[in-house]
Amino acid sequence: MRKWLLAAAGILALGISGASAQGYPTRNITLVIPFAAGGPTDTVGRLVAESMSRTLGQTVVVENVAGAGGTRAPAQVAKATPDGYTILLHHIGMATTATLYRKLAYNALTDFETIGLVTDAPMSVIARPDFPAKDFKEVIAYVKKNKDKTNYANAGVGAASHLCGMLLMSAIGEQMNTIPYKGTGPAMTDVLGGQVDLMCDQTTNTTSHIQGGKVKAYGVTTKTRVKNLPDLPTLDEAGLKGFDLAVWHGIYAPKGTPKDVVAKLTAALQTALKDPKVIERFAALGTEPVSQSDATPAAHTAKLKSEIDKWRPLIQKAGVFAD
Ligand code: ASP
Repeated sequence: MRKWLLAAAGILALGISGASAQGYPTRNITLVIPFAAGGPTDTVGRLVAESMSRTLGQTVVVENVAGAGGTRAPAQVAKATPDGYTILLHHIGMATTATLYRKLAYNALTDFETIGLVTDAPMSVIARPDFPAKDFKEVIAYVKKNKDKTNYANAGVGAASHLCGMLLMSAIGEQMNTIPYKGTGPAMTDVLGGQVDLMCDQTTNTTSHIQGGKVKAYGVTTKTRVKNLPDLPTLDEAGLKGFDLAVWHGIYAPKGTPKDVVAKLTAALQTALKDPKVIERFAALGTEPVSQSDATPAAHTAKLKSEIDKWRPLIQKAGVFAD
C-alpha cells in the first residue's frame, strides 16, 4: 500500500512539473537581485527583466534580496521550487564567495541550473566630490598618508566592490577603513554626499555621476578604456600594472528546473541581449551584452568554474574570509 502511494505521488509530481513546463510561463516570474535597488546589479537586472517579460508574455518581477555581500539571495533561490518562477541574476560574486565564505548555505556549482551570461561590466574608482586627489597617483599617496582613516565603501564581503577594494589595497600595500552597505546604490548616496571617501563600482552605476561631474573619478579596472569615459585612464595606465577586473553577470535557476523551462529562459535572455533598447542602455552605462554563444548554459557553467578556480588562490593569498 505504502509503495503504491509513493508511486502514485511520484506520477502526480511528474505530471504537475511536466504540465507546468509545457505551458510555461503562465504567471509572473520573480528575478531575485542580490543587492539593494538602485545599484548596478539592480539596473542590469531591471533592463533584462523588462525585455524578457516582452518575450515570455509574463512579467518578470525584480525582487531585491540584499545582505551578506550578495549571499542571501542565492541561498533563497537555491531552496525555491525549481519551476522557472524564481530565478536569480548574480555577478562575479557567485565565484568569489565560494572561497571567501567558510560556510555557505548553497553550492554555486551544484545547486543551480545556469541560464546564460549577460554582460561584463568594467568598474571605476571614484571618490566624494571634494576628495583632494587630482589623479590616481595622488589617491595612492592620500591612502598611504591617511592609512585606515580613509573610508572605502563596498557592498559587503563577496561584492564586486569588495573584490576591487581588496585588489586595490593589496596593490597599494595599505588597508582602508571599509564601510559595508546593502548595495552600491545606497553607498553611492553617501559618496555623492561626501560621507565616504572612495568606492570602486561598476560603470553601470558610476557613468552618469562621472559624466555629470558629481563624483571624482580616477581610473577604470579593465585593460582597455571605456568608450563613453574616454578621458579616464585604466588603472594599468595609472600605475597598477596588470590590474584587470570586469564584473560578469549571469542568470541562474534552482537545480532541477525542467530543461525546456531553462531553454525558454535562455532564449528570452538571448532575445533581450539583441534588443536595441537593451544594447543602447548598456552602451550608455559603459557596458555591452555578451555574445549570443555566451548567453548559454554551457558557456555560463564554464565561466563560473574557471572564475572559481581563478579567484581561489588570490583570495587565499589575501587571507580574507567571512563566516
Ligand atoms: N555593485 C555592487 C557590488 O559591489 C553591488 C550592487 O549592485 O549594489 O557588487
